[in-house]
Amino acid sequence: MGCPRKDKDPFAIFCLSTKGSSEIPEGTVMLIVLNDHAVVESELREGRLVCPHCNGELRPWGHARRRVLRTATNNEELRPRRARCSNCHMTSVLLADICLCRRVDEVAVIGRALLEKAAGAGHRTIAIRLGRPKETVRGWLRRFSSRVELIQEHFRLWAFALDPRLETITPQGSGFADTLEVIGLATRAASLLFGPRPVWSWASAMTGGALLSNTSSPFPTPR
Ligand SMILES: [Zn+2]
Repeated sequence: MGCPRKDKDPFAIFCLSTKGSSEIPEGTVMLIVLNDHAVVESELREGRLVCPHCNGELRPWGHARRRVLRTATNNEELRPRRARCSNCHMTSVLLADICLCRRVDEVAVIGRALLEKAAGAGHRTIAIRLGRPKETVRGWLRRFSSRVELIQEHFRLWAFALDPRLETITPQGSGFADTLEVIGLATRAASLLFGPRPVWSWASAMTGGALLSNTSSPFPTPR
């Protein structure tokens, strides 16, 4: 499954990986959108967001349940927009790209943990630095490590697709660090092409919010 049509928002990317979640009703699709309420609202009203089920136009359809997002400095309450397809009438939840599906912590916080791990820190040290339980941090690192080849290959595809001048990727000494390098290259290219967004927001968008999900569903790939 690729990203939506090019005449639509190129990075409203969805994940179909939420089946079976205890928090999300079975079959609900999370659409990862820009973290800008006003932009998303106008995209919805103008029909520029694409239904992940049928490519129809999404329109405003109330809100999903409130949830808490733990950022680096505080807890924020989010109330994601819900949208309904004008064609097939199925609803989707629009999750801002600062989130990952089914994670309470902001993706930038998780990203910082990954970078610190690549720089040599252990999960206990990282947990103290980030003010998170060590079990939580260990869980992020383990999940990322267990999928590191898949994630690396995914962002490698994106990096070469978005930057035609990219020829080689310099090895960083470990699969973990190589993967962060290629995430950096792909997200920087995306910012240059589509407008700046934080690295980890791109990482969420480019994986449909499923960067740390244990899912067999494929990530959205470039086409
Ligand atoms: Zn539809």
